[in-house]
Amino acid sequence: MNIVGGNWKMNGDLASSETLAAELRRSLGSHHGAEAVVFPPAAFLVQVQRKLAGSSVGVGVQDIHPYAKGAYTSGISAPMAASAGATWTLVGHSERRTWFGDSDARVAEKLHAALEHGLKPILCIGETLDERQSGRTVDVLRRQLDTALDGLTAAALGDLVLAYEPVWAIGTGVTASPQQAQETHASVRAHVTSGLGDAFARALRIQYGGSVKPHNAAELMACPDIDGALVGGASLKALDFTSIVRAASKQ
Ligand code: PEP
Repeated sequence: MNIVGGNWKMNGDLASSETLAAELRRSLGSHHGAEAVVFPPAAFLVQVQRKLAGSSVGVGVQDIHPYAKGAYTSGISAPMAASAGATWTLVGHSERRTWFGDSDARVAEKLHAALEHGLKPILCIGETLDERQSGRTVDVLRRQLDTALDGLTAAALGDLVLAYEPVWAIGTGVTASPQQAQETHASVRAHVTSGLGDAFARALRIQYGGSVKPHNAAELMACPDIDGALVGGASLKALDFTSIVRAASKQ
């Protein structure tokens, strides 16, 4: 089943987050054609989770700290997020890599923490414009994947979801063409096959992320190796996010 994530990033306040969650409960709460998960700001996780509890819309956190507890001011650990109602976490979002200096090695630690504490991870990978233009896309994605997945077996990775998000397409209004995205997804899946085997790679869901909107979602998700979307800006409007989840259901 395709999976669509809504990354609300650092937007909204408590009232608007609760309103958005309530609207999504009405529009998608009993929708089972595609899996939907929202990632509200951590400050509103509990309230959003309460609004969506018992519905088919899952709730996750946008990031976790690699360690379970300790003197790490402002950190939110995987067990803390889980106890607040999160069942998913993003790991390695490009904004974490850019703004907070998350290295490939740090992303790997976070992935291990998520798996250890029972949060389902969406591992984000993607190349910058410079890396694409200089023909390094495949190498960059392989490096990001290999570092994150090092030492993990298919059994340990369980429900892992990948999100391919070209950095040049995030929040820019520029989307990878379906051909560009499909080609990259196929190469990512082939690489996963070589490391973790055919059965795991075939079952692995790989989302596309980068300016996915209601008008381009269906075309992207019609590609054979695109199994959903990770959505930023358009996930802040219940109507737009609902329409993207419905497009994912038809594939
Ligand atoms: C994202 O944040 O993962 C994202 C893809 O954002 P946007 O849809 O706004 O490009």
